[in-house]
Amino acid sequence: MPKRPQELLKTHFGYDQFLPMQEEIIGHVLTGKDALVLMPTGGGKSLCYQLPALMFDGLTLVISPLIALMKDQVDGLKANGLAAEFINSSLKAQEIYRIKDSLKEGQVKILYVAPERLANEAFRVFLRGLKVSCIAVDEAHCISQWGHDFRPDYLNLKDLREDFPKAGFVALTATATERVRRDILEHLNLRTPRIFISSFNRPNLHYDIIPRNDAFKELLGILRSSEYKNRSAIIYCFSRNDTEVLASDLCSKGLKAQAYHAGLEAGERHAIQDRFIKDETPIITATIAFGMGIDKSDIRLVVHYALPSSIEGYYQETGRAGRDGLPARCILFYSYADKFKQEFFINKIEDDLERQRAADKLNKMIAFCEGFGCRRKFLLEYFGERYEKTSCGHCDSCLRPKEEFDANDISRLILDGVRLTNSRFGGQYIVDILRGAHSERILKFGHNRLNCYGKGKDFNEAQLKEIITRIIEKGLLRKTTGEYPVIELTVQGREFLGSQERLMLPELKISVKKQIKKSMEGRDKGESYDEGLFEQLRRLRKRLADQRGVPPFVIFADTSLRQMAREMPMDSASFLDITGVGDQKLKAFGPVFIKEITDYCHQHHF
Ligand code: ADP
Ligand code: ZN
Repeated sequence: MPKRPQELLKTHFGYDQFLPMQEEIIGHVLTGKDALVLMPTGGGKSLCYQLPALMFDGLTLVISPLIALMKDQVDGLKANGLAAEFINSSLKAQEIYRIKDSLKEGQVKILYVAPERLANEAFRVFLRGLKVSCIAVDEAHCISQWGHDFRPDYLNLKDLREDFPKAGFVALTATATERVRRDILEHLNLRTPRIFISSFNRPNLHYDIIPRNDAFKELLGILRSSEYKNRSAIIYCFSRNDTEVLASDLCSKGLKAQAYHAGLEAGERHAIQDRFIKDETPIITATIAFGMGIDKSDIRLVVHYALPSSIEGYYQETGRAGRDGLPARCILFYSYADKFKQEFFINKIEDDLERQRAADKLNKMIAFCEGFGCRRKFLLEYFGERYEKTSCGHCDSCLRPKEEFDANDISRLILDGVRLTNSRFGGQYIVDILRGAHSERILKFGHNRLNCYGKGKDFNEAQLKEIITRIIEKGLLRKTTGEYPVIELTVQGREFLGSQERLMLPELKISVKKQIKKSMEGRDKGESYDEGLFEQLRRLRKRLADQRGVPPFVIFADTSLRQMAREMPMDSASFLDITGVGDQKLKAFGPVFIKEITDYCHQHHF
């Protein structure tokens, strides 16, 4: 009797429940139809093709752009007793022959390859001789020039469709704006695919934006706090030189940090990355070159020590924190001066369209940093997702008690100005009306006769613009997109005008405060567990990982260790109840972990 997905989930992956959407996606994939899966990092995309792979007759071919990741992924699957292999340039010819043989004998269920390999005709011929049931295209956004990781080789994947007309295609990605989404559908030639969009919200990530005044001191404080001491952290810097300087400054303060950037020699880069993955170096200071090949689930802190150049980049980099679902923190040190550094590079872009696009992305990033609204809401709405709440409770904006001022009168004047000019003008024009400007345009339209004309003179131009931005954040106005954006009155804005409500807005101009302390107080605590035991289990995990030459998280994720340190399972049955423990891991690691836990409990007289 073949096992059902729910059963396989426990026996082969060690989980009791599916994460949101996984079950639905798996059901669809099993029918052999095409699918596009959009899920945030950590959403559990891999399982959506790995689990069906166990049920299909034939092979599941996984296209993944990251050769560096394949070994870990396959090691992880093997540790769970899944017949997985990868073929890439890091393997010796001998090894490739062995794998090809087992593929021919139908002994491999999941095969990982990089897109470049499919350009090799001989390899394509070999593949055609196999029975392929499903083709999973991971990081599918790499197919789009509108994304930020374009890989030309992805464009050849379309040919696979002809090679395997019967196999279902599953494209998966964590970054997809509308445009990228369309490119994926088109370039992969998906057949009436079902599109699964799960929320991009990462509820376990806490977002903070802190004015960069005494950044080094603040950073030190955070890294030394009990929460983050010896925990994995990535600090993104602006330049190669910055990463080196920061790493050495941190080391001089007794912390273990290493710099990583594209200027280092490949072997050295690999070694640094490896030490990070193996929990030997907790802190990496890096340029954005770092991270693509990192699949570490227990990164607790991602710091942007300089302004990122786009929201896409920021979201992707912060997305590397807390993939295990436990609380993690994303801190951005913001200084308006960084804008000029970024602009310097943008101005060097020769292609007009591309330069404009880069400038737009930077402006969005600045709007994000300077905004007073909920950070999460801003991010989600940027990716086209509606977030109904106005406050998430887990970002600096939501937690920092803001100084507010009574902006009722001026806001009503602005809203009225927009209403009476029929939502047809830009912000500058509305400001001109309120300031009582004698512009030709205003006179031509007769807007100097409006009731609000010249009534906003208590505020200067910059302040009025800021007030408009804050009103937009409140949802009473909306700025349209396109070449000539205009300010429109929203339904809420109209309702507000007709009501007796009073509008308060955050104090104008970013007030520099010690924000970090306050927002740390609001941090979610997570469930409690025995920290001594947790540390001991981490050391055991590290020993086992080193013996096997795999990263620690291949043995168990932090989530599993914390649960062990909380529930203290002392027999096989209760050990199997730990999330992440399936049959294979119970057999391989159950006895040593149970012994460690039992000894610990005896020593501590629990
Ligand atoms: P993505 O590729 O979407 O970033 P992964 O596939 O790497 O995400 O999964 C993220 C984490 O969630 C991994 O540590 C994975 O083992 C875990 N995970 C996946 N499915 C489940 C599940 N059903 N229950 C608990 N954890 C899960
Ligand atoms: Zn928030």
